[in-house]
Amino acid sequence: MKNSNNISIIKMKIDILGTEYTIKKCKLNSKHLENKYDGTTDYSTRKIYVSDELEGREYREVMRHEIIHAFLLESGLYTEMSHPGIGHDEQMIDWMAIQYPKIRKVFHELHIDY
Ligand SMILES: [Zn+2]
Repeated sequence: MKNSNNISIIKMKIDILGTEYTIKKCKLNSKHLENKYDGTTDYSTRKIYVSDELEGREYREVMRHEIIHAFLLESGLYTEMSHPGIGHDEQMIDWMAIQYPKIRKVFHELHIDY
């Protein structure tokens, strides 16, 4: 998302099922992204970190991915999920993050999006 000055715009606070999350852009080599993630969700602080290098579709996909992590966490789906490791199944998160815009469009067309 760019404004007329080509400066990235990000909504810094978002309500996820009644819990406030803070969204911050940071450098890839920051301690949050460790040069290996485009985005992360810190469950202990309710902060989402996203790379300041992302833009356009890539930015939106990473943001959707992290927001879905937050929705699952606030729904009580985290450590007690049936999953070989601790936490969320990354394949499921990616599926939701990628398909959500298409699902939302169908829901909207059928007037079942609320
Ligand atoms: Zn993830």
